[in-house]
Amino acid sequence: MADRTPLIVGNWKMNSNHLEAIQMVQKLSYRLEKEDYERVEVVVAPPFTSLRSVQLVLEQDHIPIGLGAQNVYWAESGAYTGEVSPSMLSKLAVKHVIVGHSERRQLFRETDEMVAKKTAAVVGAGMAAIVCVGETLDQREAEQAEQVVTTQLAGALRGLSVGGPSALAIAYEPVWAIGTGRNAFPDDAGVIAGIIREQLRSILGSEIGDGVRVLYGGSVNAANIKDFMAKKDIDGALVGGASLDPDQFAAIVRYRL
Ligand code: PEP
Repeated sequence: MADRTPLIVGNWKMNSNHLEAIQMVQKLSYRLEKEDYERVEVVVAPPFTSLRSVQLVLEQDHIPIGLGAQNVYWAESGAYTGEVSPSMLSKLAVKHVIVGHSERRQLFRETDEMVAKKTAAVVGAGMAAIVCVGETLDQREAEQAEQVVTTQLAGALRGLSVGGPSALAIAYEPVWAIGTGRNAFPDDAGVIAGIIREQLRSILGSEIGDGVRVLYGGSVNAANIKDFMAKKDIDGALVGGASLDPDQFAAIVRYRL
């Protein structure tokens, strides 16, 4: 089995102006120690308007937290009012970009095809794409979770070529668990993570498929993270609400303690 370093990502969504973001990342860094960063790769994804400020704090204070972005457009430049390109993000030392989050799929009508273009653009720019997949409550109740997730994943990875497993992470995020305080049962999430792993192996080959990290997301907190991390195919978490509280997020990162 591949040796996968756990990846814990804080998705701040549309929260924090740049001054608040500076404070949040500083507070987080005060709560983490060298050993935490050795055990877990920690990433925060602030809004676009805070990326530069957070980048400077991380660099100036030598804080080994990775910088992530919550979205991207696939074109390099041009007449795309309001959009941000992959190279604009990589120039800010962004290393991870979340694509296909369910809020973007539901509120902004992102399709699998758009997610595929974004994924390819992120990887092509030398960053890692965190591709989100997950079923709605109706779909779960209709026992379609597996089909929805595998269709979304196949769509996102269509035509993709990656040089290695670090170019990609997959976040399994059941839509009904996001921001609701109602997390999936770890056993159920573990089953879907196993299905994702098999699909990654079949699409990308067993070596890369074994190395790509599969995250769980959906109402993760300091009390439940350990149960998710105990599942063999879950290698980390995409954390929304709880990542806004540095105490809580640091406790999630330190789930082993
Ligand atoms: C998310 O935004 O990806 C998420 C999982 O949110 P929350 O942790 O608040 O459910």
